[in-house]
Amino acid sequence: MNAPKIIVIGGGPAGFMAAITAAEAGAAVTLFEKSREFLRKVKISGGGRCNVTHACFDAREFATRYPRGEREMIGPLQRFGAAETVAWFAARGVALKTEPDGRIFPVSDSSQTIIDCLVGTARAAGVKLVANHAVSTLPGDCNRVVLATGGGDCELAAACGHHIEPPVPSLFSFKVAAPWLRALAGVSVDPVEVTAVGRREVGPLLVTHEGVSGPAILRLSAWGAQVMHDLDYRFPLLVNWLPGRPLDCDRLRRDHGAKLVVNTPLLPARLWERLVDAPALRWSQISRAEQHRLEQRLTRCELPVTGKSLNKEEFVTCGGARLREVNFQTMESRLRPGLFFAGEVLDIDGLTGGFNFQAAWTTGWLAGQPR
Ligand SMILES: Cc1cc2nc3c(=O)[nH]c(=O)nc-3n(C[C@H](O)[C@H](O)[C@H](O)COP(=O)(O)OP(=O)(O)OC[C@H]3O[C@@H](n4cnc5c(N)ncnc54)[C@H](O)[C@@H]3O)c2cc1C
Repeated sequence: MNAPKIIVIGGGPAGFMAAITAAEAGAAVTLFEKSREFLRKVKISGGGRCNVTHACFDAREFATRYPRGEREMIGPLQRFGAAETVAWFAARGVALKTEPDGRIFPVSDSSQTIIDCLVGTARAAGVKLVANHAVSTLPGDCNRVVLATGGGDCELAAACGHHIEPPVPSLFSFKVAAPWLRALAGVSVDPVEVTAVGRREVGPLLVTHEGVSGPAILRLSAWGAQVMHDLDYRFPLLVNWLPGRPLDCDRLRRDHGAKLVVNTPLLPARLWERLVDAPALRWSQISRAEQHRLEQRLTRCELPVTGKSLNKEEFVTCGGARLREVNFQTMESRLRPGLFFAGEVLDIDGLTGGFNFQAAWTTGWLAGQPR
């Protein structure tokens, strides 16, 4: 019997995983990449270190990190999740390590290790790798086509009759029109509670030259991606700088009565100075009204968001091929037999921390399975 012929469109992580899986199972696989270089995003990912996946080994819990795709990803992650990804790379000579926050990187701390592994493994499995070749129509002379064209590149999927949720950025930082805050660039606070567009997140926040970033903000941007886009990235951001730590003025008055409020920081000193904004005030002198004002500034600090800026470590597009038109047992189109999907071309996107690559490994692996 002739080997099944499979064409993979897109030379990113999802396309490579699909191509390798199919070729190792005996298929004749050709992978087309429109640009000169394979795996471009892997190269720049995770600040050049490539955050391959996340140390969360329960599929249901892992799936909660996908603002779009949570329900659909549970089954696929049970078959090929973070543990299988770590084992897959280990079997091909790449050792991975887990950082204290759960992010998993190659021990080499270099994304080139992942690229070398994927390209080397694909070649060894007999995948024909073709760069500089944009596929503009769906090839007919094969048993299976895997669409792995990434986020924002949905033309082929649309041409096959698939509905496309409009692509919108996710995982971005906020620009804030508050000069006093920008003057504090570099200050980080952990944890803060941030609320915007009806969503609340708790975690670390970093003040940047343009506004605010850090895990809490990136998570908020992922969950609110669509609404924030519709608001043209202009909305109020409410910050509680002291979540779960109410300002106990009675105790502070008792313990530090003679001290200046500004000299008893409960937050990084520069930020505290700005928020207190009363250089001569002592705890013993603080009136009820002043106490209330201070509490408001510390726990309900409203920042006007006026735009978004790219997060350099990781960003992603939400939107893409509509999920209910794809069978997540196989990744095959429900509209067009023989057409398979993998990676960010689908309307799936994850939080920062390795969840986006895991979606690529998981769906690529499924799309490449022998039938
Ligand atoms: C700066 C940055 C850092 C990131 N860091 C991380 C990280 O550390 N961890 C993480 O989990 N995620 C990270 N991400 C997200 C991650 O890179 C993506 O989710 C992932 O690359 C998606 O994989 P993919 O294969 O679906 O798509 P892509 O990586 O986008 O690959 C798709 C490929 O298809 C090609 N293509 C498109 N159309 C055609 C066509 N018609 N014919 C031929 N080829 C075509 C494109 O040129 C592209 O090379 C990062 C993203 C960015 C931008």
